[in-house]
Amino acid sequence: MATFKAIVIDKAEAGQTVRLADFDEKDLMDGDVTVAVEYSTLNYKDGLALTGKSPVVRRFPMIAGIDLAGTVESSTHPGWRVILNGWGLGETHLGAFAEKARVKGDWLVRLPASMSARDAMAIGTAGYTAMLAVMALERAGIAPARGSVIVTGAAGGVGSVAIALLAKLGYAVIASTGRPAEAAYLKGLGAAEVIERKELTGPPRALAKERWTGAIDSVGSATLANVLSMTRYGGAVAACGLAGGMDLPTSVAPFILRGVSLIGIDSVMCPPALRQEAWRRLETDLDRGKIAAMTSEIGLADVIAAGARIIAGEVRGRIVVKIR
Ligand code: NDP
Repeated sequence: MATFKAIVIDKAEAGQTVRLADFDEKDLMDGDVTVAVEYSTLNYKDGLALTGKSPVVRRFPMIAGIDLAGTVESSTHPGWRVILNGWGLGETHLGAFAEKARVKGDWLVRLPASMSARDAMAIGTAGYTAMLAVMALERAGIAPARGSVIVTGAAGGVGSVAIALLAKLGYAVIASTGRPAEAAYLKGLGAAEVIERKELTGPPRALAKERWTGAIDSVGSATLANVLSMTRYGGAVAACGLAGGMDLPTSVAPFILRGVSLIGIDSVMCPPALRQEAWRRLETDLDRGKIAAMTSEIGLADVIAAGARIIAGEVRGRIVVKIR
């Protein structure tokens, strides 16, 4: 195959262009492994890249897409079934919305034996980030017996998988959403309680009534500040997103008066050992039936429009992209 189909972002005088194009294999970047991509997925960051809303893409032309699963076509280990999340894919290195990717072998995680490429991409960076957040809370000593955990941005990708994971591990999960119509969906994933996003978007107080022991926040800004102010003594908050804004209008009060910990989560440059552990845990600790029920499928030609929908906050759960 001299050319293959890909979603290509380019820079033009009037701004950014994005189109489904035939990409020449000889223009792939350096890498010791070529992967036949079977599935990708649409994350919030892909929406930012496709719409050009934030400067996610740092090389042009770029093939968009930060997540892939497929089969190794050429390397010293042909035939391996692999996953790649992040490492600059779709940002600095030609990405995943394409039939082929050439990447560094060190970036790959082997597909867990019981997962298909589609299963892995239904989880995607969103689900793998949710798992990293759960593992971070565990390292901070959070456990089901210590009290409830709140998940913000609950109906989004990170939020939905976080709820399913926490519920399966035995936590009482509080889901915060701006879409109260999704309450039944969130309870179906395992949320014990659903609260409205606006309860957490007002001006944050330094300390407020203690309501939960742990939190997974994909929203940031005033929401994260309010979550911190309502976290119980000795609790921990994993911050992984900025869907509500990049700022954090908080004070040191939750940290120095309640011993609350704020833990940062990064999936992109996360070290290989932690990734492998996250995918091992995703294989055992996630109810894949729940993920399947929250996942819809699109083709490469639908990716550009779906990118605009995820940025508009209109996507529920996860979208996989069938590549071949
Ligand atoms: P989604 O768009 O699927 O979910 C985001 C959710 O946040 C929405 O569904 C919505 O939930 C809520 N939300 C959206 N806009 C606002 C707003 N203005 N104020 C408050 N809540 C809002 O995205 P993902 O789940 O893929 O990603 C979530 C966040 O996590 C993003 O910011 C993303 O960049 C970040 N992320 C970070 C990673 C990392 O490595 N740290 C990896 C992956 C994602 P609801 O409708 O329920 O209120």
